[in-house]
Amino acid sequence: MQTISNYINGQLNPPVSGKYLDNYNPATGMVYSLIPDSDEQDVALAYASAAAAFPSWSKTSVEEKFKIMMRVADLIEEHLEMLAQAESIDNGKPIGLARMMDIPRAASNFRFYAQAITQFSSEAHQMEDSHLNYTLRQPIGVVGCISPWNLPLYLFTWKIAPAIAAGNCVVAKPSEVTPMTAFLLSKICIEAGMPAGVLNIVHGNGPKTGMSIVAHPHIHAISFTGGTKTGAAIAQVAAPMFKKLSLELGGKNPNIIFADCDFDEMIATTLRSSFANQGQICLCGSRIFVEKSIYEKFKTAFIAKVAKMQVGNPLDEQTKMGAIVSKQHFEKILSYIELAKEEGGKILCGGSAVKMEGELEHGWYIQPTVIEGLTYDCRTNQEEIFGPVVTITPFETEEEVLKMANSVSYGLSSSVWTQDLRRAHRMASLIQAGIVWINCWLVRDLRTPFGGIKHSGVGREGGFEALRFFTEPKNVCLKL
Ligand code: NDP
Repeated sequence: MQTISNYINGQLNPPVSGKYLDNYNPATGMVYSLIPDSDEQDVALAYASAAAAFPSWSKTSVEEKFKIMMRVADLIEEHLEMLAQAESIDNGKPIGLARMMDIPRAASNFRFYAQAITQFSSEAHQMEDSHLNYTLRQPIGVVGCISPWNLPLYLFTWKIAPAIAAGNCVVAKPSEVTPMTAFLLSKICIEAGMPAGVLNIVHGNGPKTGMSIVAHPHIHAISFTGGTKTGAAIAQVAAPMFKKLSLELGGKNPNIIFADCDFDEMIATTLRSSFANQGQICLCGSRIFVEKSIYEKFKTAFIAKVAKMQVGNPLDEQTKMGAIVSKQHFEKILSYIELAKEEGGKILCGGSAVKMEGELEHGWYIQPTVIEGLTYDCRTNQEEIFGPVVTITPFETEEEVLKMANSVSYGLSSSVWTQDLRRAHRMASLIQAGIVWINCWLVRDLRTPFGGIKHSGVGREGGFEALRFFTEPKNVCLKL
């Protein structure tokens, strides 16, 4: 049984309390490692180490930061196979997905921000011949980064990389549900020669370890990705302390399909946008709206493909649908399938847990599930399920589908399928979401602003937006 350590002051340490939590392999339902059950004492040590490193790190040259971050990226790539295996075991995601998406993207996050900081500039405003204003963008100090379990290393590094590139020192917490690749990243940082204290990783659960970071009086900015309820709990504590907050929260994304779309491309992409990572991506399109004239054609073609999707061992090369991340989440998803039935939904495909055999017998698996016949405003169509469950709903006009698409409290992402250019632009401007994909899904250019509106969050990550979040602008006005 592997025991995970905290990474504080450049060293791997046990938690101060000596207590540990169980870490489960979702494919087998068995405990396979132990996680530090850290508390405010560990967060205090992490803060002290970050605060001690800050004066030197904030003055480290851009070239030096670039070199260290590029070494981290190279080492992530060098250890790609080991990290992909670890991510698949910890999270239940298909090994192919971890290899293709999660781990390469973690390396890209470091590489991207190593380069971005060399291009980051600030503004100057000249007042005719009298005064010159220029804006300094200074690092904040010690910042907190808290990330979820669905894309563990991918989302963890998406916060850490811009934070340290901008000259901050970090106290970070991965989800207790999937801590393994964050632990392996600690070892990579040591190997890459990251100065002690620049990055500190404290493991433990949200309400205790996470909240100790949020409530710490000297951690002045919090970058959080996770559920909307947790985001609200964090804001409640952080707002009266006037902390800078970036909140990337839940979604209930519409996938809007018009009759004039490229049908085959749409079906292939809709399969992915519905069920990639067992539907546990905040960007998955869980509400599929289909123009009435092709509704039956869509239903037949989609169901035929979904019915062929095999749920399997995440470590099997062929598996496209792995395990659900935890028992608690597995039960939540099944309860939503029951709710959908109570609300009058018809299960067209899937709808139950999958009983596996052998060592996978106690793992958590759910069939990809497609439901029709629900009203757009029922709970199943309004609340985030975050699993392999989608609903399909016909529509007749743009106005009707916009009303249904925008009816939820969330506003993270959306997809529109149409060949009509004018309609595509019209829809893009009227959909209430931070991200609109037209005739594609999950195409990510790291320079673009990433985030949601309404209950999907506050602020944007990505590109220079993240560097702006992790710096404080200071205006200097000089009399000429
Ligand atoms: P949670 O909100 O449960 O947890 C996210 C992180 O916050 C975890 O590290 C968790 O720790 C920690 N946490 C939990 N409670 C607290 C607290 N009171 N104070 C401080 N930290 C806390 O989300 P999930 O991990 O379940 O992730 C799924 C959610 O994340 C979905 O809603 C999904 O839509 C959203 N998400 C949003 C994305 C976006 O970019 N907008 C991207 C990916 C996911 P622990 O797990 O150890 O308890």
